[in-house]
Amino acid sequence: FLSRLHGTEASAQKEDSRFKGHDMLAPFTAGWQTTDVSPLIIERSEGSYVYDINGRKYLDSLAGLWCTSLGGNEPRLVEAATKQLNVLPFYHSFWNRTTRPSLELAKELLEMFTARKMGKVFFTNSGSEANDTQVKLVWYYNNALGRPDKKKFIARSKAYHGSTLISASLTGLPAMHQKFDIPAPFVLHTDCPHYWRYHLPGETEEEFSTRLAKNLEDLILKEGPETIAAFIAEPVMGAGGVIPPPATYFEKIQPVLKKYDILFIADEVICAFGRLGTMFGCDKYNIKPDLVSLAKALSSGYMAIGAVLVSPEISDVIHSQSNKLGSFAHGFTYSGHPVSCAVAIETLKIYKERNIVEQVNSISSRFQDGLKAYSDSPIVGEIRGTGLILSTEFADNKSPNDPFPPEWGVGAYFGAECQENGMLVRVAGDTIMMSPPFIISPREVDELISIYGEALKATEERVNELKAQ
Ligand code: PMP
Repeated sequence: FLSRLHGTEASAQKEDSRFKGHDMLAPFTAGWQTTDVSPLIIERSEGSYVYDINGRKYLDSLAGLWCTSLGGNEPRLVEAATKQLNVLPFYHSFWNRTTRPSLELAKELLEMFTARKMGKVFFTNSGSEANDTQVKLVWYYNNALGRPDKKKFIARSKAYHGSTLISASLTGLPAMHQKFDIPAPFVLHTDCPHYWRYHLPGETEEEFSTRLAKNLEDLILKEGPETIAAFIAEPVMGAGGVIPPPATYFEKIQPVLKKYDILFIADEVICAFGRLGTMFGCDKYNIKPDLVSLAKALSSGYMAIGAVLVSPEISDVIHSQSNKLGSFAHGFTYSGHPVSCAVAIETLKIYKERNIVEQVNSISSRFQDGLKAYSDSPIVGEIRGTGLILSTEFADNKSPNDPFPPEWGVGAYFGAECQENGMLVRVAGDTIMMSPPFIISPREVDELISIYGEALKATEERVNELKAQ
């Protein structure tokens, strides 16, 4: 079963001698995985597909790690990187020195984000660094305003905001806290807005949202509003299980934050640039954020880059404060890396030229409806998603209260079946996640649905066998 999970028997055997027990301490990988089986080694990519070192082809249903929005071999991005590498492979943005690509990208991002007017852009190398930067910006801002006690952050259970010390603290997944001495004490977690799992009997989505907004307000009052600085949320929760907000959720959350002068940070690392069928998640849910985190599809995953959009109110305060104090002492060697920025500029150009939002909308119902047609399967608890992001949660009796025994490995079995049949999905316990490239074709969506259907059938049979034992 393990070799089925991590590669075919044949490929595992073939590669054992070279790559089993390799030298990487691999991210989000258990030790036994690297010693017991050869890793799946991806060698090249083309459109919606990736190929392993044995030449096996896989439909990449997660677009790498929710990022390769333009697929695996967009020549214009390669050209943009090469051109920039030839002219200026590196220069930094410290001490009022910078480069053209970083200036151009900042300008472009401010123009593109229209949910509200933003003031400035800060560049990072990743989503985690963007969210760490958010905390520092908010603290700097509140110190400047003479309210040093307003420092706590509220995030949500099951949120994913990154894996550095602070972004992992904001993250609401216990597995990422255990053994790392986090979350940091200034981080509080409020309810996960997952209607199917957490609604009370007879409660509508709207009533559920009202209750969550009330719980948020109760938490703020209990802690003292003067101590709460900011609330951070993904428009659609991603790695925590792809959880779209219930009806009226953000409508009800935002006034509570306004009432107590609490900043709203939209973590758009997965949602931005078309994934949800709108340019930004904030557009879809009418969110008016004070700060926004971006990464992933910003460069179609081709270069490491993240960004923070800062409201004019906050950036004005930071500017005037740093006029008094000297430099704004935060930044990374690669903040605004010219090659990353050049690739991001080209990515955004392509989104505009190809009208990427329209493209996502033209394919998303085929993807969503095709997969949701499997909702009746006896082992499926819920299939949920919007645009080009979706998850399947396996459960017995269609109930969130009847999970399958973890040792049955239902999700892992499904994932292994997909892999064996030429598709890579994200498996987290009994939840399966997908976020294909924006360029996925109708034929490829049909292939994705067909492999999913086959894997589901095999997994249903497996569950029946296990139940009979
Ligand atoms: N925020 C969200 C919503 C994410 O999905 C991720 C990554 N999956 C991050 C932040 C962290 O980004 P990175 O891995 O680039 O640090």
